[in-house]
Amino acid sequence: MDVADTAEVVETAEDNAPLAPLTTFRLGGPATRLVTATTDEEVIAAVRAADDAGTPLLVIGGGSNLVISDKGFDGTALHIATRGFRLDGTDLELAAGENWSDAVAHTVEAGLAGIECLAGIPGSAGATPIQNVGAYGQDVSATITEVVAYDRRAGETVTLTNEECAFSYRHSRFKQHPDRFVVLRVRFALEDAGGLSAPLKYAETARALGVEPGDRVPAATARETVLALRAGKGMVLDPADHDTWSAGSFFTNPILTEAEHAAFLRRVRDRLGPDAAPPAFPDGDGRVKTSAAWLIDRAGFTKGYGSGPARISTKHTLALTNRGEATTEDLLALAREVRDGVRAAFGITLVNEPVTVGVSL
Ligand SMILES: Cc1cc2nc3c(=O)[nH]c(=O)nc-3n(C[C@H](O)[C@H](O)[C@H](O)COP(=O)(O)OP(=O)(O)OC[C@H]3O[C@@H](n4cnc5c(N)ncnc54)[C@H](O)[C@@H]3O)c2cc1C
Repeated sequence: MDVADTAEVVETAEDNAPLAPLTTFRLGGPATRLVTATTDEEVIAAVRAADDAGTPLLVIGGGSNLVISDKGFDGTALHIATRGFRLDGTDLELAAGENWSDAVAHTVEAGLAGIECLAGIPGSAGATPIQNVGAYGQDVSATITEVVAYDRRAGETVTLTNEECAFSYRHSRFKQHPDRFVVLRVRFALEDAGGLSAPLKYAETARALGVEPGDRVPAATARETVLALRAGKGMVLDPADHDTWSAGSFFTNPILTEAEHAAFLRRVRDRLGPDAAPPAFPDGDGRVKTSAAWLIDRAGFTKGYGSGPARISTKHTLALTNRGEATTEDLLALAREVRDGVRAAFGITLVNEPVTVGVSL
């Protein structure tokens, strides 16, 4: 790092800075200090400065998976605004601050396959490994080869292989140890299938395209179809549409053991009748993944539910939204009501997907 970098870190720091505008919920109080870093060196300098001073650190990318307390964050919020898109054949390297959805578009324009169904997911490239983002049959764990991160415990930059990232459904080593790694760069191996997509895994996408799961279509067509499906569910950011003032899915899909699933089915049929058939997807080792959206809907929380400033999206049961005037406490009250209602109806406790800062459900 040279002196110019240090100067820039100082220049882009702000005290008592509002964090709500940095989040897609538009919620949360101020940070004691907000640093915006535009190079890896600035990121590392800001992290080291906070760690040396024993100051709590909150890393923010696109703010699309964050629920921040109304009281704000007493520490340094580090906004990662680094840039870097490098495509070498089928090898892609993205700086953490790159806009994810734009990067997907560029790879599709280059005729490559592997992440085209992840179009429209808001936020930064550097956050994609954190919860192993996924949608429409793809997740980043299938294409990430390496993650370059600053390891706060070791005090150095490290390169983690895909295996070392310990990816699973909406989870990773980074989410497991949130205060250890700051992602700087993410590397992917894409596929050159002559302009075609990867085989489509998701039935809804295949149906929309009039093809069978497992088929390939032009990668650009797959991307556009996913974007259209997402937009219909309020899952593409649109500042004018309060249905997108959210964190996308607020709850993860529950994964049940065989015994839990059997008990769940009994409960569902007691409540909804013998023909009730909740979605069930095999998840290995006899486990079954069911649908959080189905549970919420059948527990009586339908689209548009709520009368206050925080409500369920009118387009998707799984998205909790800020209608414009909500506070984080309003949002959490709604989230607790939904979680407790689902538990009372079906005996399953939903777990929030977004990261909570200074609050919990
Ligand atoms: C409308 C909408 C639709 C969505 N659809 C999907 C979807 O289909 N699939 C899906 O998986 N997610 C979805 N999401 C959730 C969200 O977009 C993703 O989780 C995304 O990867 C978050 O990126 P971000 O940069 O906004 O992260 P942030 O919200 O800024 O941060 C999220 C977490 O990651 C950490 N973090 C961020 N950057 C770094 C970094 N460089 N190093 C270390 N830690 C970091 C933060 O500290 C925080 O803990 C959706 C959200 C919205 C609003």
